[in-house]
Amino acid sequence: MINLQQLSNPITSYEITAVIDTALCIGAGGSSGSLADKPIVRNSEKNLLIPASQLKGRLRHECEKIARGLKWVICDSPNPQTMCPQRAGLTGNFERTEYKISGYKDQHHCLICQIFGNPVLPSRVIFDDLICTEEPDNLPEVLRPCVTINRRRRTGEEQKLYFLETSPANTQLRFTGHIHLSGAPVYTGALILAGLRHIHALGSSKSAGLGWLHWEFPNLPLEQAAWDFLAKGGVQ
Ligand SMILES: [Zn+2]
Repeated sequence: MINLQQLSNPITSYEITAVIDTALCIGAGGSSGSLADKPIVRNSEKNLLIPASQLKGRLRHECEKIARGLKWVICDSPNPQTMCPQRAGLTGNFERTEYKISGYKDQHHCLICQIFGNPVLPSRVIFDDLICTEEPDNLPEVLRPCVTINRRRRTGEEQKLYFLETSPANTQLRFTGHIHLSGAPVYTGALILAGLRHIHALGSSKSAGLGWLHWEFPNLPLEQAAWDFLAKGGVQ
């Protein structure tokens, strides 16, 4: 658990909202008193939520793709051995000046690690769980019967019927929280906003039409300096 007060840099928080266009299914794994085999994840007040870890992981992945597209060399997450500063087995020019950070002598950290952190470097961006704004008591429990498919035989597996809990469908449920930035590099807002535009769905069963959403984007700073910096990916 990161204590926001202990960070030395001032923190700026930006509201972010996901509006669910279909029905959301982010499984909690364990049992929650639901009849479903795969219940949806909730907090202790029974509010539906999108876990911060899920949003952060997905956003990091999208930002990695964008940075690579801009010809920046980016390490391989989430395995610590292939992430900065170890980068076991990775080639590419990680020794550039933009990857140096004061206080981390003889180490280089790629652009993505400088935002999202790695086992050595603290994350400069912290995500809240996104909490559903609708009262839990107003939301009926929705169960979807599902069948495990045998891909080789292209049939349903016998005795593999299970129940998936989802949020109610097509109700434009809103999930809201904040993104907190502290000492983040100048290009952070640009990369995060671009990354969010690539996330059109979250959770499981996306191909079955679940979890499709759109964003009310956070009002992150977008400075010309950010674009000028990001454009230098191919310049060595
Ligand atoms: Zn890295």
